[in-house]
Amino acid sequence: MTEAEWESLCDGCGKCCVVLLEDEDTDEVYETSVSCQLFDAKARRCTAYERRFALVPGCVQVTPQNAGTLSWMPKSCAYRRLSEGRGLADWHPLVSGRRESVAEAGQAVSPNLRSEARVKASKLWRYVTGQRR
Ligand code: SF4
Repeated sequence: MTEAEWESLCDGCGKCCVVLLEDEDTDEVYETSVSCQLFDAKARRCTAYERRFALVPGCVQVTPQNAGTLSWMPKSCAYRRLSEGRGLADWHPLVSGRRESVAEAGQAVSPNLRSEARVKASKLWRYVTGQRR
């Protein structure tokens, strides 16, 4: 598979660009309504995709080697689905032929996510929306 083909598997949901909080006692992971500082929530795109690893040290590159090991990725993630042998969802743009099908299926992040640049790290817990699924 070429790099372009691999990249095309991303459904563009934006869930991996949401700031997550982990409960150190239980290892449970929680989603927030806060996004990475580079994420454009309305367009559901990284604004500095080519430079993201230099700008955000914690940004993780999903590869064929690690796709099945990133437990914090959402169960809906195309890479996770494929690594678990579940195939692409019927709402995936490569199946539906339409990018809008991701949001229509309720799988896209909210366009109203708040950038982490506007939230103090100590206040992030106020933005928890639920457990990561
Ligand atoms: S969670 Fe997976 S499918 Fe969704 S944007 Fe991130 S890499 Fe792409």
